[in-house]
Amino acid sequence: MSESKYYNPVKVLEGVDVFDRIIEDFVGESVVLVTTAGTRKRFLDDFIIRHQLKPAFVLDDCIENPTFDSCEKLYNQIDFDQVTKIIAIGGGSVLDAAKAISIYDDSRSFTAVENAIKQGEDLNGFTFIPIVAVPTTAGTGSEVTCWGTVWDDIGLKKYSISNPSLYPQKAYCDPKLTLSLPWETTLSTALDALSHSLESIWNHNASETTRQYAIQAVDLILENLIPLSKKLDSVELRTKIMSAALNAGMSFSNTKTSVAHALSYYLTLHKNIPHGMACSFSLPHILKVYLEDHTDGVLNDDHLLRIQSMYASLDISTSPTDYGIELNEFETFFNAGTQSDRMKNSLVNLDRLYEELSASY
Ligand SMILES: [Zn+2]
Repeated sequence: MSESKYYNPVKVLEGVDVFDRIIEDFVGESVVLVTTAGTRKRFLDDFIIRHQLKPAFVLDDCIENPTFDSCEKLYNQIDFDQVTKIIAIGGGSVLDAAKAISIYDDSRSFTAVENAIKQGEDLNGFTFIPIVAVPTTAGTGSEVTCWGTVWDDIGLKKYSISNPSLYPQKAYCDPKLTLSLPWETTLSTALDALSHSLESIWNHNASETTRQYAIQAVDLILENLIPLSKKLDSVELRTKIMSAALNAGMSFSNTKTSVAHALSYYLTLHKNIPHGMACSFSLPHILKVYLEDHTDGVLNDDHLLRIQSMYASLDISTSPTDYGIELNEFETFFNAGTQSDRMKNSLVNLDRLYEELSASY
């Protein structure tokens, strides 16, 4: 286990109705609101009118898995000389887009940002608009991390953006905002959080602190996700799952993800599998292989049994075939994962994982 110091600068406000306090973030600021048309309709337009808020720009055309093109369209609507803050309200894709468009230099051109991201630069030569993050799903953890993802839909590639200035200033984690989420989204985002927590445990960058955050997240999901599947309107259960997502976020904000996420990108790019499912179908396999030669003081065989049982109850397949990977494509899929940067963080024996996953055919 590494001795690295834990660091996370995000001011987190957590609890039912904390969202109402966001009005203080508008005082004296020129705000760009980044969101989706659906979120506006659901509650945001009403909220803005009720509190007489005056955002300078409202950008509501964020798409699922933001691309360079979609970000550029948002970017070109912003007057960078005027704006002082971005408030991003939405799921992981909205927060990713907000991070991408918060970056600028003297050229005010998104091409400069896009080129820097594609070349893997550290972005230190750029200026960043401060972000306030309001997650409307419980899973991404992006509200407490300093990175995001942009997809190149032409080159079929995933790009990471990463810089300490991308940590949001503040995060409002209000479980009430997740109350109307359908089960499908609730499930895939909660599984993303489960993946973040486990991924930060079987990780070279793990520390005592990150493992404590992670195991709390795992336990909260194992205790509350099945009950939530039967009672989607429970504020109490929504609160527990949001807390799990936040704990997972606090953990992987310091470790980054690992093997399950590395394997997921191929499924998202080539099979259109939602991120949360793509990065979690493999978790029971990975955990089994990890436990064969690791004792970390937090994860044990009981967790494996409970996770397997939860997957069975919620009808989540752990077979690559069910995500579009037939046996003749398995090698390509697995190799694509091993070439991802995220794989370097993994403590899991890859030869054994290859055997374990291919045995599921
Ligand atoms: Zn994820």
